[in-house]
Parts: sequence; C-alpha cells; structure tokens
Amino acid sequence: MSSKLKEILNRIAIIDRDVTELNRLKSRLPADRPYSPSLQLSFDKQINNLLNERIALMDLELIKPPSWLLTKKDDFEIISGDVSKEPKPESLSGDRPSEQLVLDFLRALPKTEIHLHLEACVSKKTLKFLYEKNGNPLTEEEIEEKFNFKDLMGFIQVFFFVQSSVKEPGDLAYLIESLHDYLKANNIVYSEVFFAPSKFIQNGLDFDEMVEVMVRKIREIKNIDGTEIRILVDVSRSFGPENAMNNLNRVLKVRHPEIIGIGLGGAELMGPAKDYAEVFQVARESGLRTVAHSGEDDGPWAIWDAVRLCKAERVGHATSAIQDPELVKYMKDNHIPIEICVTSNVFTGKYVRKEQNHPVRYYYDQGLPLSINTDDPVIFNVNLTYEYFKLYRFLDFSLDEIIDLIKQGVFATFHPEKEKLWTRIEAEIRKVSENFDYQPKLPVLA
Ligand SMILES: [Zn+2]
Repeated sequence: MSSKLKEILNRIAIIDRDVTELNRLKSRLPADRPYSPSLQLSFDKQINNLLNERIALMDLELIKPPSWLLTKKDDFEIISGDVSKEPKPESLSGDRPSEQLVLDFLRALPKTEIHLHLEACVSKKTLKFLYEKNGNPLTEEEIEEKFNFKDLMGFIQVFFFVQSSVKEPGDLAYLIESLHDYLKANNIVYSEVFFAPSKFIQNGLDFDEMVEVMVRKIREIKNIDGTEIRILVDVSRSFGPENAMNNLNRVLKVRHPEIIGIGLGGAELMGPAKDYAEVFQVARESGLRTVAHSGEDDGPWAIWDAVRLCKAERVGHATSAIQDPELVKYMKDNHIPIEICVTSNVFTGKYVRKEQNHPVRYYYDQGLPLSINTDDPVIFNVNLTYEYFKLYRFLDFSLDEIIDLIKQGVFATFHPEKEKLWTRIEAEIRKVSENFDYQPKLPVLA
C-alpha cells in the first residue's frame, strides 16, 4: 500500500494535536478520586496508541522523496506546519520545543532498563502467532479484548493469558524476540528482565530447557546488534518461600553469565519480604545479585525488611519510602537504587494517584540513586521513552536532569563494566544532542 507524503504528514499533525489535547484533559483529572487511576489509564492507552501510530508512520519508507525533503538532514523537521512550504527547522535549545520533538529526542537517547517483566513485553502479534502455533487460534479482536482491563484483577488475567501462550520451552525464544523489538524501538542498549518460571514449571515445562532457549536467543541478539539482555529469575512471593527456595536452587544449577540473579516479585501483601530472608542469603552467598519489589502496596516498614533483612541490592517501586525520611537517607547512604515505574505505580494507585504526585521528584532532589522503568510495557501500553517523557511533562524534569537519570540508570544496573557502558552511552548522547541542536549543561557529561 502506498500513501501520499502529504496525507501522512497531515495524519501526523492530527495525531500531535490529539495527543496534546488528551494530555491537557488528563492533567485536569482531579487528584485522589477513586475513578481517576482508571480514567488516567484510558487516557494513557489512547495517547500511546496514537504515539505508536505516529512511530509507524515515521518509519515508513519514502519511495519518491520530494526535493525539499532531500535538502533537510533530520526527518523530525517535517513534522508540523504547512507541508506545502519548506518547514522551519526546530531546535531543542529553543524556548518551548514541541512535545513531539522532546519525545523524538528521548527516544533517540540510548538507555538502560532494569525493571521489566518478560511476559509484559510480548507483542500482541507474537501472542497471536503463539496461540495459533499451539492450536488455539485467536482473532486480533479477541486478543485486544484481553488487554482491555480495568482493574488489578484484569491486569493479572493478562499475565495468565500471556503465560498460557507458552506451551513448550522453545516458545520462550519468541518472547525474547518480542522483547528485543521493544528494546530496539526505545534504543535500550542494556536490560535486566524478570523471568517468572513458577507458572511454566507448574504447567510441566523444564526449567533448564527454558533457560537454554532464552540464553541461546540472548546470545544471538547480542551478535546481531549488540543489544544486551540479562535475566533476573523472579523467585516469586505468590507461591510461598519453599517454592522460592526451589526456584533459587534451579538457578544455582544452571550457571550462565546471562542469568545474573533473583528478584522477589508477586503480591506484596501476601508475601512479606522478611519471609524470604533465607532465600536472599543463600543467593547472595552464591554470588547472585538480588532485588525485591517493595513498598508499592505496603508501607516503608516493608522496604526496611527488604533492604535490612534481605539486603536487596535494589528496590522496585518503593513509592512508600517517601513516608520515612530515615529510610530515604539509609537508601541514599547505602547506594540502594530505586527502580521507578511511574505508569505502573499510578495504575496500582496505592500511594500514587497521578503522575504529578509521584515521589520520583522528591527522591531525585534528595539524591537517591534511581533508574527509570516501565515494569509492564505492552500491558500498560507504555514504553521507556514515554516514561521519561512523563518526568519531563508532569514532574518538571529538565532534559539535563533526564540525561542525569539515564546516567544513574546505567550505574544502577548489574553490568560488570558500568564505567565502560556509560562511556559508550555518553558518547552516543553527545551525538544525539548535537543532532537535535541541544547542548546539555549539567556536569553529567563532564
Ligand atoms: Zn515489577
């Protein structure tokens, strides 16, 4: 199918207008009303659908580019305005760069992501393929319907739906491929991903075989384009400490450099971190890295347990830490990064009801080490680019501060050569900034 460039540009202009309007409406939602989180999610979904459409349009191949386009070096310059005239180049160093330009910039910056769940990165296309392959074909509408959830229960159902698409270890290769597409689309060069084996094992899949499939794929991807993926096995609090210890023992048996540690995920209120102190101790003494979801659904006392009893090296969410200045100080002094997931926290809605109130601004100003993440990109219909954009749009983070956060994100990873990784990312940030006519002012790039 071919379309006229003018039609595409018009559609992009309409998308930009709609996104701005939806963002404006969303920002007017009252805080702390029970209906606000689900309405916000609807807005987010709508906005992200539009942004995804925009990305697809921008990625279209030009068969006969008009001459005026060939004289321009950056394609973002053709985004807005009257397309019949030569568009004016836009610069990020101007007073009020368009939100779209900021988004394009954020998308182009190289990043790391360390709090995301494998099941939540599977594209609907891959799901459709897997269900069909495994003898249970579904239409696109049926799949779409599954993702149209309104509450936490519906959210959990989506996870089950994705897990049910996997019938044999080989299917995990498709999940990793789908993850790779997501990482590429957001220029994420290094990621640490949670893999939760409990449900698959319950369904009769062999742990070692699953790991073999994933590791093979991860190595293949590294050879293709250098994208690095590491796995943290979610020992999961939903199945109890004994199951967690069994999972840990499985991890200890398969020694692959790609499997770097364990995470404690699952329903926080059903499984306090302190019940898993022994699992963490064995993991730590065996040289594995350890992280825990904590303080998203429970108060700061739960985070204290995660960092003191379990000695988790990073904490996922920690939105309730803001209630306890002592805890904030402890995490800062002991360099325990928080894995921030703004969209996810607003959806869960326990301590944060809207982006503007997210404690990430406070944590940043207090000097806590942070990392920005999506948690469940496909399920929430978000991506890492947009998570950074939310910081810019709703929490007054400047572009310099965002670059600083990207740097903090690098040093919050378990990458064995963080300095080297940052040097590489830093050089790329300089290049991207130059392309966007932006001069970072902070000493982060010193
Ligand atoms: Zn999570």
